[in-house]
Amino acid sequence: MPLEKSEAIVLKTYNWSESSRTVVFFTRDIGRLALIDKGGRSITSKRGKLLPFARLELTFYTSERETTGYIRDCELLESFSLEKEGTLGRLAYGSAACELINLLLPEKDPQSALYTYLLTYFAQIAEADRRALPSLFIAFMLRLMSHLGFRPSLSFCGGCRKPAEEFSANGASVLFSPERGGLICPSCQTAGEYYISLPAEGVRILSSLQRASLVEAAGVALGYDISALLLEALTKFLGYHAGVGGELKSLEFLEKLKHSHLNG
Ligand SMILES: [Zn+2]
Repeated sequence: MPLEKSEAIVLKTYNWSESSRTVVFFTRDIGRLALIDKGGRSITSKRGKLLPFARLELTFYTSERETTGYIRDCELLESFSLEKEGTLGRLAYGSAACELINLLLPEKDPQSALYTYLLTYFAQIAEADRRALPSLFIAFMLRLMSHLGFRPSLSFCGGCRKPAEEFSANGASVLFSPERGGLICPSCQTAGEYYISLPAEGVRILSSLQRASLVEAAGVALGYDISALLLEALTKFLGYHAGVGGELKSLEFLEKLKHSHLNG
C-alpha cells in the first residue's frame, strides 16, 4: 500500500466499533477523502488526535484493491479555538460549514482554493463578534455554492431578470422560489407555486453577502429570525438544485442555533 501525505481538516466521523471508525477529511491535495481509523479511538493509541476545526498533517495508506484507505498518523499544525463568548453558536456554524462541504463535494476532487477558504472561515468564526456569525456562515455558504455552480438570483428576478430594486420597496417583502432559483417579481409569480417570503432588507443583505469577503461579512450583525429565514431559503434552494435538501439537517441546525442564541 502506498503511503501518502496531505494537510487535512476533519469533516465527519462515523464510529463503527469501540476502537475503530471512518473519518471523512477535506484534504488540501486530494479533496474530500474517507479513511478508516483502525484503533484510533483507543486510549492507548499513539498517534496524534483528530481534532475538529484544525489543520492536520495527515499520513495515510491508500490501496488499489480496497476503496477506502487507512490513517497512519496525524500531527496538529494549527487549531482554531471556538471556546469564547457564544461557543455553541461558533461550534454550530463551524460544524455546518463542514457538513455542507461533506455533502456537496465529490470524493477525491482537489479543491485547494476552497480548502484555504474553509481555514479563513474557521479563523473568522473563532474571532468574530458573535452577532456576525450568521452573516459569516451565509457568506461562506453562498461562496461555496457559487464555486460549485449553484448561484441563486438575489439581485434580479429569476424569471424576467428585472432588478430587485424595482420590486422590493423598503418595508415590503419579496418572494423567493427555491425551485426557480431566486427572487420572483410580482409579474412572474404563478398561483400555486411555493415561495418563501423574505423581507426586502434581508434580501439586500443576502445579495451583498453574495459578493462579500469573509472579513466584510464579519462586520455585518444579523438577528436570529432574519438569518433563520435566509438560511431556510438557501437550504431549500440547494435541496432543489443540488439534491441534498433532505440530508442538510437544516431545521435541526436552526433549532440548535436558536438554542445558542438564547443560552450561549
Ligand atoms: Zn420577473
